[in-house]
Amino acid sequence: MKKTLAIVGGGAVGLTAAIHAYNFSKGNINIIILEKMDRVGKKILATGNGRCNFTNIYATYENFYGEDKFFSKYFLEQFSSQHTIDFFYSLGVLHTVLENGKVYPYSEQASSILDALRNKIESLNIPIKTDFNVKNINKKNDKFKITSANNEIITADKIIFATGGVASPNLGSNGDGIKILKSLGHNCTKLTPALVQLKTPPEKVKSLKGIKITGNLKMYNNKDFLKEEYGEILFTDYGISGPPVFQLSTLFARYKNLIAYIDFMPSFSEDEIFNILKDRKNILSYTNMENYFNGLLNKRLGNIIAKNIGIEKLSFLVKNLTDDMLKNMTNLIKNYKLEILDTNGFNNAQVTAGGLKTSQFNNKTLESNVIKGLYCAGEILDVVGDCGGFNLQWAWASSYVATKCCVKSML
Ligand SMILES: Cc1cc2nc3c(=O)[nH]c(=O)nc-3n(C[C@H](O)[C@H](O)[C@H](O)COP(=O)(O)OP(=O)(O)OC[C@H]3O[C@@H](n4cnc5c(N)ncnc54)[C@H](O)[C@@H]3O)c2cc1C
Repeated sequence: MKKTLAIVGGGAVGLTAAIHAYNFSKGNINIIILEKMDRVGKKILATGNGRCNFTNIYATYENFYGEDKFFSKYFLEQFSSQHTIDFFYSLGVLHTVLENGKVYPYSEQASSILDALRNKIESLNIPIKTDFNVKNINKKNDKFKITSANNEIITADKIIFATGGVASPNLGSNGDGIKILKSLGHNCTKLTPALVQLKTPPEKVKSLKGIKITGNLKMYNNKDFLKEEYGEILFTDYGISGPPVFQLSTLFARYKNLIAYIDFMPSFSEDEIFNILKDRKNILSYTNMENYFNGLLNKRLGNIIAKNIGIEKLSFLVKNLTDDMLKNMTNLIKNYKLEILDTNGFNNAQVTAGGLKTSQFNNKTLESNVIKGLYCAGEILDVVGDCGGFNLQWAWASSYVATKCCVKSML
């Protein structure tokens, strides 16, 4: 009699696991996908702003974080970004590489990725059970009993458990899967929203709300420099957003005293800015601070800088600016300090930093050491990647290895 593999979670991991399982078993096992939502792969549709940045040609373990910094290495070597590109090509998806090694479907439609996976699964006659919200798992005599919220029961010989993390719960993964495995003896590291907007003291950003600037964002833990990113930074009424912010937001999970410094004019040195400001004092000596930053910085930003150096009234005459004032302005333009108070929460986050402790999984097969016969892959594990196609690459790579090892053990 054919053995049964149950795949819990029809996301990036679950859908690819089904295809790999069919290929590795040559159709000699039963495969079933159990998905709690009314459709599989909802999150895939939302990725990359609807374009799905499905891998990154520069992906290495150095783009990933977790308690074990090296955990992802083996899996990324077994299934690299090139394997991902080849895999999707075999499903009819041509790719294009855009900035910073980010890979998208040539159609630039996330639906191309989901449709390719769904069409293949359908052609292999792999059943998908939607609206099956797994609530409980029991193991007896080497058989798993998987129970849904509606008390439907599926039995299986092995499980690939891929219910994702806690980020963007409206798309399906709300952390229930982590809770189920915790109740069965797994441990979980601290869960923190990542690839998300950051909250700062509101008084430092409120009046800048809606402004977009292209600048450099530098992140420090107290006085220790951590990392910097260049790009478009957007001010909101609670903090900052934009690609550099998302990229650096994973640091919040790892450092207690994050401080951001924004460089509003990264292509100029401090000396150059000081000279520009001094020059403007002469050129604009006929006017007041209302007009001093015109043509140099966003007007509202200029007003904030003037206020921050102690100029309360914009009627202050430009000709009265002192060298000390110009120096303070230069410093603010190069290093606008914002304490990072929090992230903007799981509802707005793309991924979860933290997850099931990887030390409880075999580091070559992803089989649980706690529940034999159960394999985990993807975001449910304590592995989080940078912004730029890395998190999906982790999903594809871990799915491939876990499925290969799981199916091998069933034949
Ligand atoms: C808005 C957004 C944009 C993103 N953009 C990108 C991007 O461009 N590039 C990139 O690399 N990454 C991106 N990511 C991250 C990436 O989508 C995830 O890291 C990846 O999908 C994780 O795959 P997964 O299979 O582990 O989990 P998921 O894709 O979350 O899939 C988990 C599945 O399990 C189901 N499930 C959960 N609990 C249960 C249960 N109890 N019973 C049954 N089923 C259950 C869920 O409904 C879901 O379908 C983005 C994420 C978001 C939210």
